[in-house]
Amino acid sequence: MPESREQQRERHRRLRKDPGPDGEWFRAQRAASRKRKVDRAAGLMPDYGSVACLVTWRLFDGRCAKCGIDSDITIDHHRPRSAGVAISPGNAVVLCRCCNTRKGDKPPEQFYPPERLWDIEIALLFAPVLVDAIERILVVHRATGWRRAS
Ligand SMILES: [Zn+2]
Repeated sequence: MPESREQQRERHRRLRKDPGPDGEWFRAQRAASRKRKVDRAAGLMPDYGSVACLVTWRLFDGRCAKCGIDSDITIDHHRPRSAGVAISPGNAVVLCRCCNTRKGDKPPEQFYPPERLWDIEIALLFAPVLVDAIERILVVHRATGWRRAS
């Protein structure tokens, strides 16, 4: 039985109060949702749903792309909004709040050491392909009545 809107709202209320073991993942999703809103307000077209968010999270193993810590996590643009690009699977990274603040509007070349930037950009090449593959699988599973265990 899929959860109703009211059940979802209630679950989110509980998570906001006490994030628990999935807290960082929950925070990352909320951060991504804020980026989509701000992108749209800036006239950009974000292409970044929950599958994309999961792919970003997995590609970076839930750790900050800059310093590697796994707490106080956000998801944000790789190339900044100020460069005229929206958040998308190929343009999203996991960053801790502290590194994200320091990154600000800087282009990635001015923020990461070159060898780290190389790793990040190679990982980001896979993101759109993974999102596409997972969404195709979900379409098949939904058509056959498959439900994710909750
Ligand atoms: Zn960091």
